[in-house]
This record gives sequence, C-alpha cells and structure tokens, in this order.
Amino acid sequence: MKFELDVHTHTIASGHAYATVHEMAKAAADHGLQLLGITEHAAGIPGTCDEIYFHNLKVLPRQMYGIELMFGSEINIIDYQGKLSMEENLIERCLDIRIAGIHLPCYEIGSVSQNTNAYVKAIENPQIDIISHPDDARIPIDYETIVDAAKENHTLLEVNNSSLDSLSSRVGAWENLQIMLALCKEKKVPVIANTDSHFTDTVGIFDHVKVLFQELQFPEELVVNRSVDLLKKMIQKHRVMKKIGKQIPRDQ
Ligand SMILES: [Zn+2]
Ligand SMILES: [Zn+2]
Repeated sequence: MKFELDVHTHTIASGHAYATVHEMAKAAADHGLQLLGITEHAAGIPGTCDEIYFHNLKVLPRQMYGIELMFGSEINIIDYQGKLSMEENLIERCLDIRIAGIHLPCYEIGSVSQNTNAYVKAIENPQIDIISHPDDARIPIDYETIVDAAKENHTLLEVNNSSLDSLSSRVGAWENLQIMLALCKEKKVPVIANTDSHFTDTVGIFDHVKVLFQELQFPEELVVNRSVDLLKKMIQKHRVMKKIGKQIPRDQ
C-alpha cells in the first residue's frame, strides 16, 4: 500500500522541532506524499507558538512543491473531562486539521477510567478529527472503550510511527498498538498513521507502522493513508454528522 498522506508533523514553531514549513513540504514531496499536515503544539508545551500563529495560518499557501498542505494543531487534552488547551472559536476558524492528544507536561496522569474518559470526551468533541498517540503505557487506558467511541463518533485513532521508534519517550507503544489495532480490525474501525516528525528526515516514512500492520495482517481498507480523498471525506462526514447529531453510515 502506498501512503499518500502524513498529517501530524511539527516545524520550528513548536519549539522542539527543527525544520521550516518550506523544508517540511519539500521533504514530503521528495518522500512521495500527496498531502502533508503541519500541526504545531498548542499552548501548554514549553516553547511552542502563541495563539496569533494559528490566527495567521491563512497567509500560508495550501500547495507547495506540487503537494497539498493542511495546517492545524496538536491540541492538549488537559483534564479527565477532555478539556482542550485551545478555544473553540480558534479551532473552528483557523485550523484545517485538528488533532488532540495527551502530553505529560499538561496532564496529570489519572486512573484507567479517568484517562479513558479524557480520551473519550475528546473523541466525542465535534471539533477533533484525530487522537494522537493513544499508545503510552504511562497513561493507561481501556482500549475497547476508546475504539468503540472512535467508531461511534467517526474520529480517527492514530498509529504514530514516532511512538514505535526506539528514540521515543513514550513507553509500551508496540504492545498497546497491537491491542488497539486488533480491536480496530475486529470492529472494522479505520485508523490513520502519522509520523509526528520533528525534522525532515522522517516525514512520510512509515517504517515501524508498516512492520506492525504486516505483523497483524491489518486490512488496507481500514488505513486512511491510502487516499487523500478518503481522509477528506471522513473528516467532512464526522464533522457534519456530529454537528447535526445523527449517525451517518460509513462507507468504509
Ligand atoms: Zn504529541
Ligand atoms: Zn506531535
């Protein structure tokens, strides 16, 4: 399977990443992607950009080096009720793509049910398209509850290539993603793979994810990365569905 898209990456604006928008876009094109998402950290991560950065994303071109770009944020889930570290209005008006995740500088680790609830509330939030790296054993969760919520709300769970790397500060990702993906396969819940690149060399490189998918014989039709159109349709469907508050059957 060809991976057409990688929509969770960071630039120097996030404070601990090392390339520019231009450099990341060029790397994405060189590595064969059709769509790159750049999702800077929201308030709460030391050294990241201020809100005004997100307000001004409108000035950036959505095409560079022959590929498409989306700009957004990886927003922090900051409590057990799924509260986010960015205001609704800013998310709605300024972000092409919206990711939410738990980061330990801005979240106090709770019990399994508290952590699970934090994720479920973010999954249910109509503004959130993707949940980043729900794979860290330091933040234990109930995977069946998360997968069921993702299915019901048409929110994408991420398979994060960086979590699977030996350099990652997250713990137990291989084991936890095996559990999550087995449930997704059984319940036919689509997932998205992202690299979470903080530099150009890893953009669009899904080496660890491919090993994991192979190991689990994970069905291609449940991997959203195979088609930019599919990702866009899924995002639109879940945003509309949640706004009007009713179930629309998935075609995937
Ligand atoms: Zn993250
Ligand atoms: Zn990230």
